[in-house]
Amino acid sequence: MERWVKMEDISDGKLYDRDDMVRADCGGCEGCSACCRKMGKSIILDPYDIFRLTAKMGKTFEELMAGCIELNVVDGIILPNLSMNGREESCAFLSEEGRCSIHSFRPGICRLFPLGRLYENGGFKYFLQTHECRKNSRVKVKIRKWIDTPEPERYENFVISWHYFLKDMSRYLADKGDPEKEKQINLTLLKLFYMLPYDPERDFYEQFGERLNMAGKIKTD
Ligand code: SF4
Ligand code: SF4
Repeated sequence: MERWVKMEDISDGKLYDRDDMVRADCGGCEGCSACCRKMGKSIILDPYDIFRLTAKMGKTFEELMAGCIELNVVDGIILPNLSMNGREESCAFLSEEGRCSIHSFRPGICRLFPLGRLYENGGFKYFLQTHECRKNSRVKVKIRKWIDTPEPERYENFVISWHYFLKDMSRYLADKGDPEKEKQINLTLLKLFYMLPYDPERDFYEQFGERLNMAGKIKTD
């Protein structure tokens, strides 16, 4: 999801790479769970998030749809996001003690927060969102450590591929202006990247690459 805002209004004005130090570490949050509540539909899940969640929880995508995640349309593409439930509008994975119950396999957006990504020139840079985290006394941390995901270079390449694939697909659907075709393609994408189970024993990025190749045919069908 892209936001059209002025960088100087939301960030410290700097752009970062994964080996840079940035003041993002809130030191374990200490009882604050503000960014796990009332987040609306903003915590969008990518295929790697679903790979991790289904593998670690032993649940299917459909089972996660029963209260943990929901579907929403983002720039013409149907994508899953974390559900915010109940009076408190809390993430389904937030424990009664206000802690993340899936911390080690939490989604990429949760790992990134309070950082954001600025996509440009076929890649992206990180930036620090200065008004999002409630804690003011954050300390510096290396970005790759903060995101805490194995093989960071492969992960970033996946993030880039997924972002530009969605952008391209979104533009394609908008240009077509055919609601029936849009519905059909959305269903295909949802099945291919989210509902079709991933093999937890196989490398995720290889499986994603195979699916991306298959999706490449969608525009020629
Ligand atoms: S707002 Fe900041 S301190 Fe509060 S839970 Fe989120 S990351 Fe932690
Ligand atoms: S998955 Fe964890 S970190 Fe992310 S919003 Fe839910 S409780 Fe918070």
